[in-house]
Amino acid sequence: MQFGVDLNLRNARVHTPLDLATDPETRALIKAGIKTTNCMGKKCNNSKFDFQNVQFYCESSGKFYCKLCSTKAWVFENKDSKIEERPVCRSDDILEQFQHSEKRLVDAMDTSDFHTLDKVYKEITDAETDIDVKLLDDAKVLHLRLEKELDIKNFITSVAHVEDYKTIRKSVTVLNNKFKDAEKLGVKVDEDLVSKINECSRRLISERNLRFEMENMYVSAATKDTVEKLQGLIELATDYSVEDKYMSAANNLCGKMNDNIVARETLQLLLDYPIREYPEPEPLDAKGKPIKTKDDKKKPKKRKKKEPAFPTPEWALQLEDVQKTVKKISDLA
Ligand SMILES: [Zn+2]
Repeated sequence: MQFGVDLNLRNARVHTPLDLATDPETRALIKAGIKTTNCMGKKCNNSKFDFQNVQFYCESSGKFYCKLCSTKAWVFENKDSKIEERPVCRSDDILEQFQHSEKRLVDAMDTSDFHTLDKVYKEITDAETDIDVKLLDDAKVLHLRLEKELDIKNFITSVAHVEDYKTIRKSVTVLNNKFKDAEKLGVKVDEDLVSKINECSRRLISERNLRFEMENMYVSAATKDTVEKLQGLIELATDYSVEDKYMSAANNLCGKMNDNIVARETLQLLLDYPIREYPEPEPLDAKGKPIKTKDDKKKPKKRKKKEPAFPTPEWALQLEDVQKTVKKISDLA
């Protein structure tokens, strides 16, 4: 009926199409066609149907039109079809409506904006508008991709600042699962976004490790190893653009630990410096001259074995350096 019939035409045995039809749906359709005496279109000015002006059934509108007011075509049955093997007949109004829907869909797809596409795509699918199946499938694929990408982008934004670093590892898992789930659905996530997912994961992990170590490091217990470890974490965190406030806190802590180590080393230097022994003052006579005792002369000139002299440390050679070293401790205290 899509390709035009005269429903009142009788065959050789004088049977009409209605006499021959057994399927209830087909019979209902034929009955509706018989009832329709005139074309619903505008071009023919509602022409009357007869054996010359036959009826064409527009499936999408469920109405009958004359040849002039309808368009016949072959379309793809499904998205994988290689040849157009599905016949369609559309009234001028329906054809115009479908073409308009297809254009709106193409325009929405061109924006690459999820919300724009979502609105048009849902309108078309909700109304079951019979547009080109291949275009509809392309829209479906893009719709899913934009939806998943938006979800990932929103999540990345939500973890720009993390209050409790203990939640970070879970957030990284959530983010990476979002990506894996999208891939499982056949979504080809945009390469730029894949890079952002990786950057975000690395930033979060390095921030978590830095904050975790900072919480468990004590200035008073600092060693060169702990400072080195913290410096390594700071370097990584710098590479992965961890938030400034954590970077400055870490640098501050690192500085304090370094100072503490220097203070303890300096204190040790001072403690290691031996107490100087001063010689007993020689006894003097009334005139202020040294009194020579007989013992002195008799005393065998035994030379005491010289103990190896304590090497004067570099910092103690000049008074100025000594003062600086001592000041260092008081500054750090
Ligand atoms: Zn017409």
